[in-house]
Amino acid sequence: MNSELVSYEELMELYGELPFSLNSVLNNWIKSEHTSINKSLKGEYNGHYKMKHTMATKQIIGKHTKSLWKSNSYSKMRMVEGLKSSGLIQKGKIKTPREIRTCVLCETEFEVLITSNKSYCSRECSGKTAIRLATEIYVDHRHEIHNLIRSYVLDWTLKNEELVLSTPLNRITPTISKLLEEIFLLYRIKDIRVITKAVLGEDLGRKELIRFMKKYSREKIC
Ligand SMILES: [Zn+2]
Repeated sequence: MNSELVSYEELMELYGELPFSLNSVLNNWIKSEHTSINKSLKGEYNGHYKMKHTMATKQIIGKHTKSLWKSNSYSKMRMVEGLKSSGLIQKGKIKTPREIRTCVLCETEFEVLITSNKSYCSRECSGKTAIRLATEIYVDHRHEIHNLIRSYVLDWTLKNEELVLSTPLNRITPTISKLLEEIFLLYRIKDIRVITKAVLGEDLGRKELIRFMKKYSREKIC
């Protein structure tokens, strides 16, 4: 019979592409009444029960473990999880290994406990990133509101075409007020400078806004 020895890590990789997990397969195997082989590896069923490693073997295992800590493999992930859940760190029985990481923002190298989820070298760097993200969201949001206001003013102009076209340039307040009221109800913005900037690209004042609306209702293009 041909057989092939596969490590747990290699198995995990093979199972990564399958729609079921390695764990569920192992559990089925262990619990099934149709498998006769003894599947438990605990206690006296452990192939290494009551046997001791030689010094040479211990050294090989140690070397291998060290190289795993340095890698970014699935095994390392499991070792970190194992450390966290074992409680040995909390009890002070094991000194948590450290590793060198590169700050996501300033690219400075820094040392952290292997179990840490830090990706920035300092509070300054994580703070800067948080502020930048918040600003980006704010700018996006403002941009979106500007677009909405602009579309709203264009629609409103077409719906109120007669009113817009008949508004004398020396008496624009009633028309503008009606528009601003509706914009405020919808978008909570009443600053005319913000609104003219949204529609015209810059704050050119109320009169320019009405001129633009008149032109738009005549030509239907902007
Ligand atoms: Zn940094």
